[in-house]
Amino acid sequence: MAQVSKNARTGTMAQKHLCPCGGEVTMRSVFANGKLRNIAVCESCKRQERRPKDFR
Ligand SMILES: [Zn+2]
Repeated sequence: MAQVSKNARTGTMAQKHLCPCGGEVTMRSVFANGKLRNIAVCESCKRQERRPKDFR
């Protein structure tokens, strides 16, 4: 049996999303309407979307 390192793959969990403006999109937790939800915010233009995938 071949030995496979469990740490061989790195960087697969944290996906980076880029805003059309070139800024980096980060996830933030905000408390709104009695619920804790995550939103995606561009660090450059402060654009906010509900999901990182919306930055296109
Ligand atoms: Zn942006």
